[in-house]
Amino acid sequence: MNPPSDPRPEVAPADEAVPSVAPRTLLALAPDELARVFVELGAKPFHARIARENVLAKGLLEYAAMTSLPASLRADLERELPIFAGREIGCSSAPDRTTKLLIEFPRANAREVSVEVVHMPSLALAAEDDETERNGATLCVSTQAGCPIGCPFCASGQLGLARNLAAHEILEQYVRGQSLGRLARSVVMGMGEPLLNFANLSAALDAVHDEMGLGSRRVTVSTVGFPERLRKIAPSRPRFQLAISLHTPDQEQRDELVPAMRGTPIDEVLAAGDDWFEKTGREVTYEYVLLAGTNDTQGHARRVSARLRGRRCTVNLIPYNPVEESPYRRPEGQAVEGFRRVLLEERVVATVRWSRGVDSDAACGQLRLRRERSR
Ligand code: SF4
Repeated sequence: MNPPSDPRPEVAPADEAVPSVAPRTLLALAPDELARVFVELGAKPFHARIARENVLAKGLLEYAAMTSLPASLRADLERELPIFAGREIGCSSAPDRTTKLLIEFPRANAREVSVEVVHMPSLALAAEDDETERNGATLCVSTQAGCPIGCPFCASGQLGLARNLAAHEILEQYVRGQSLGRLARSVVMGMGEPLLNFANLSAALDAVHDEMGLGSRRVTVSTVGFPERLRKIAPSRPRFQLAISLHTPDQEQRDELVPAMRGTPIDEVLAAGDDWFEKTGREVTYEYVLLAGTNDTQGHARRVSARLRGRRCTVNLIPYNPVEESPYRRPEGQAVEGFRRVLLEERVVATVRWSRGVDSDAACGQLRLRRERSR
């Protein structure tokens, strides 16, 4: 897949860039290259399109199951053209059927990098009036191996950035996730900051939309909210919903909780969110991880309300899911409800999202953190 040029003004250092040579796999090759490989194998160019459809639209992950291709070609493909560049190296499941996959991708020159993908089947009671949602799952995907933002409460931030993921590596997460159960929704909220690898994310989302059929209103991209980048990427018809991680109404505290945004005023982030709404007609969700005793007081709630009152947006409160060795703690349910009540009284729309898979390496980036530390 060839991503469009990246709108970002500066690029990641060389070690953090995507491997420069795309691997010879079904997901990584651009359509003309893929057709050429099929012709080399004695097939017709249209067989390449059929094979890709089998993977993306039908979710078939073995050539042997692709009966719309000639049998001899299937055997050749099995030998000559892997579907994926990555390999699954870990998997954990929780009683609520949430599944986490750990996928390892090749690094450019040295050791491999790994990312987490989380597949969360809809809860039976959720969205009863929405059949797609009720019968499908939400998939959480990553855009970078590690993360350069450095939030102190996050496992992914503790190891820094290894590298950006290529478009086909982001797409691979969707395909592997789909094999665990039909997707109703996707959140780009795993490892990494999506706006720092936007060209690759955008190319992957094009395939997710056009070839896997996941509509743009069912994909949410979560960012810490670089104002200039948001303004550059806001199109008139976005391919996703936007979420911005706010985490606190206070500038000094945001500089601590979201270190890479130090020096960017919260007012500018919110203005960029307003701008997004004006250009796209889609409301922004502000994510707020509630950390007990840190940013979950009634005073915080009132100051959040003061910042957001009158804006077309929703606040999504996320009680913290503790990471090993983290000094931060999850607030009690009462504190969470109290926080939400203040926002609602101040006429700010607010929802609570309790994390899924709490019994199973639940915190974001936890599986990868353990693996990296064990190396
Ligand atoms: S919370 Fe998000 S932005 Fe912050 S370090 Fe973790 S992955 Fe990066």
